[in-house]
Amino acid sequence: MTTPDPKSTTPTMVRAPVGATVLEIDWADGHTSVLPNGFMRGYCPCAGCQGHSGEIKFIPGQNSEIASIEEVGAYALQFTWGDGHGSGIYTFRFLRRLGELRAAEGADDAPRPPIPRSVT
Ligand SMILES: [Zn+2]
Repeated sequence: MTTPDPKSTTPTMVRAPVGATVLEIDWADGHTSVLPNGFMRGYCPCAGCQGHSGEIKFIPGQNSEIASIEEVGAYALQFTWGDGHGSGIYTFRFLRRLGELRAAEGADDAPRPPIPRSVT
């Protein structure tokens, strides 16, 4: 396994304008991740959504309005959604992975494969 460039998981800017349906993250390596809100919500990594073991599965059809975003330490973002759910902590590494998955999958109706828990 290669060690990932730390710049690839260091955000320089997070854009989530009020009313927008996508979140954009600029990374220190020059890449930008574009993450639709519903895509991120579906992959909420919290124990309430995913249990305590197994892969991170996509759970469709949930509230995908971002009510607030907080930085957790210097390693993650925590979103609170429009329905009050706010226990998911999205590490920068996980967000980067979600961005890559989204870019690879493309269309909104594309399959949503599970993500190994080791990425979170
Ligand atoms: Zn959750």
